[in-house]
Amino acid sequence: VKHDTKGGFLHFKEEMDASVKAKRTLEAELRNAQPDEQFELHYQPILAVKSGYLRGFEALMRWNHPRIGRVSPADFIPLAEETGKILELGAWALRAACMEAASWPGDLVVAVNVSAVQFRNGGLEAALTQALSDSNLPPHRLEIEITESILLEQTDATISMLENIRALGIRVALDDFGTGFASMSYLRHFPFSRLKIDRSFIQEIAESQQALAIVRAIINLGNSLGIDTTAEGVETDAQLIALQAEECGELQGYLFSPPVNQAALSQIISTYLQP
Ligand code: C2E
Ligand code: CA
Ligand code: CA
Ligand code: CA
Repeated sequence: VKHDTKGGFLHFKEEMDASVKAKRTLEAELRNAQPDEQFELHYQPILAVKSGYLRGFEALMRWNHPRIGRVSPADFIPLAEETGKILELGAWALRAACMEAASWPGDLVVAVNVSAVQFRNGGLEAALTQALSDSNLPPHRLEIEITESILLEQTDATISMLENIRALGIRVALDDFGTGFASMSYLRHFPFSRLKIDRSFIQEIAESQQALAIVRAIINLGNSLGIDTTAEGVETDAQLIALQAEECGELQGYLFSPPVNQAALSQIISTYLQP
């Protein structure tokens, strides 16, 4: 915290104005940004725990603004959701990810994050169909990652939308699992292909019995329902060893690789692809 002669409210207000102004600027830049010009996807490998083989990649959006530089998804995704820009960006990401994945060998899957806004808007099925037909990617090689916030309203419309997506042959993963609240009942109603165990639990599994117990319970739940589990945010050998002792299916994290740009993919594919 900065200290200067202006104390209290006035200083606070100036900082507020500055941050509101920064947000407005970013918002305007985001509105005008062409996905093809300023955005790219990075890809983070997802590996099978037991064999260490590559299963696929999660596509993660990156914004490189010509003046502002790199803007974090934690900043621009919420803004894109507020302004509706996420509909354009999300459709662009789906198409770009499918085009990229179509060139990968074997049955490698690409996982694409889908915002609750895309989900509610109604254009998602069209965007998915378009991405698959433009890329010729077999539907079972596309997975969308949704968060529990989509499941907040337990409406028939939500379920039928998920069912339509599954009917297209696309996989649906539940992201950040364990941080929401409605998950258990949802698992009864919809066949998710994968639960992604939130990084906050994985971070602590090597030190905390409680975190380990929760991760173990999620893995067991997944196994008894026939749903794969993926641990996200694996950073240390100790975490890997703890996960290997459980029946966790897949993992993702800096221990293996951060998200990388398209140019770096072939190296990862040749290192980790099943021989
Ligand atoms: P997420 O979907 O939970 O993605 C995982 C985040 O964890 C990514 O951050 C990834 O870079 C980071 N990560 C991966 N391994 C590790 C690790 O070992 N340690 C740590 N500390 N972090 C790790 P990123 O790329 O900054 O994305 C943040 C969030 O932004 C994503 O969280 C997702 O909610 C959102 N996002 C990113 N790309 C997209 C997109 O294309 N569409 C939508 N709707 N949301 C996106
Ligand atoms: Ca994700
Ligand atoms: Ca996640
Ligand atoms: Ca997250």
